[in-house]
Amino acid sequence: MMLNETMLYKTSVAAPRQRIARISIHDLKDIPIAPPPYRDRPNTEGALLLEMETDDGIIGWATSGYTHPVAIELIEKYLAPRIIEEGVDPFRTDRIPQLFDRHTWERPLGRVLISAMAMIDIACWDIKGKAVGRPVHHLIGGARDRVPVYITHGAAYDGAPVYSREELAAEAAHLVSLGYTHLKNTVGRQAIPDPIDDYHRMAAMREAVGADVKLSMDGNLRMTLPDAVRLCNLCEKLDITFIEEPVHYNEPRNLAHLRSQTSIRVAAAENEHYKARDYLEAGSVDYLQPNINNDGGLTASLRIAAQARAYNVPLSHGNGNGPHNIALHAGVLNGGLVEYHFHKWMTYNALFEEVPQPDKGWLNVSQKPGFGLEPKDGIIKEYKRNN
Ligand SMILES: [Mg+2]
Repeated sequence: MMLNETMLYKTSVAAPRQRIARISIHDLKDIPIAPPPYRDRPNTEGALLLEMETDDGIIGWATSGYTHPVAIELIEKYLAPRIIEEGVDPFRTDRIPQLFDRHTWERPLGRVLISAMAMIDIACWDIKGKAVGRPVHHLIGGARDRVPVYITHGAAYDGAPVYSREELAAEAAHLVSLGYTHLKNTVGRQAIPDPIDDYHRMAAMREAVGADVKLSMDGNLRMTLPDAVRLCNLCEKLDITFIEEPVHYNEPRNLAHLRSQTSIRVAAAENEHYKARDYLEAGSVDYLQPNINNDGGLTASLRIAAQARAYNVPLSHGNGNGPHNIALHAGVLNGGLVEYHFHKWMTYNALFEEVPQPDKGWLNVSQKPGFGLEPKDGIIKEYKRNN
C-alpha cells in the first residue's frame, strides 16, 4: 500500500508534551493503620508522599521505602529545583539522572538519594500513564493482569522477643484460616543465629499449615554461609519455596555456593540491587528482587529486569511498597511474586483510595491510568508533620 497524505498527516501529529512544573514532598506521620492479624506493633506508621504536577495539570504520586528526613531535603533543595528549572518532560525519565552528577547519585550517599530519585521516577511513570490513559504495567509490556502474592509475618520488631515455635505455628495457621496461601517468616533472628532452632520453627509451621501452603524464609542478611547451608539442608524435606537474603552482605559467591548445596531457591537484591549483574554472573540467585521504591525507580528496575531476563532469572519482590511494585511484576515477562508486607500495605490502605488486596493468593492489577494509587481527600493535611 502506498502512503497517502492522510496517513502521513496522522503519523506526524505530535502528542502533547508536558513539563514538570511543581514537586512537593509531604512528610506524613502518625497515620493510623489496621492492626495486623498477628503479634501486635504500634498501630501507626509514617510515610513520604511525593506530588508532581505538570504544566498542563496532570498530577503524579509516589511514596518512598524510606522516610529519612535527608530525602526530603534532597528533593526540596537539590533535585526539584534543577528538574523544574529545566522543565523536564516526565516521559524522559533518563533525562533526570542525566541532570545530576553521577558521582553523587551512584555513590553511597547512596540509599537515601536513590530512594529520593525513585520517588521522582515513579511520579513520572504515574504521569506517563495518566497522559496516555493507560495503566503503568501496559506501558512496560503488560505481561499479565494479576500477580501472585505472599504475606510476611513472624518478625520480632522493635526489640521484641523472638517468636517461640508455638507462637509461629499458631500465627501461620491463623493466617491460612484468613485465606493466605504463601507465608514468609524471618530466620536468623536469634542473638546468635541458630539454624537448628530455625529448622524446628519451620517444621512446626509446616505441621500447622499442612502440605498445600507455600512457606518461605527471609534471612535478612544475618547468617554465615555454613549456617545458611545447614538451615537449608535441614529444611529440604519441608518443601520451602525460597530463602531470601540469607547471608551477610548478600555476598554473591556465598549465595552461589549455597545454591550449589540446596534445592531451596535463593532470592536476593532487595538490598544491594546495584549488584544485579554480579548475582547473575556468579549464578547467585533463583530470583532477583529489585524494589522500585527503594532502588532508583521503575526505570532502574526495568534495567535489572532486562539483565535478569538475559540469564533466564525471574524477579520477585521483597520489602514494602508492594502496591507500587505490582506494576513491575505485572508488566514484564519475568515478573513474579509480590510481598504483602502488612504494616506497609496498611499504610497504603490508609493513604490511597483504591489499593489492590490479596484474594486467594493473587493480586489483581489496577486498570486505572498510571499506578491507580490516588491519595484520599484531605489525607495530606490530616497527617502532615509539623502542621
Ligand atoms: Mg527481605
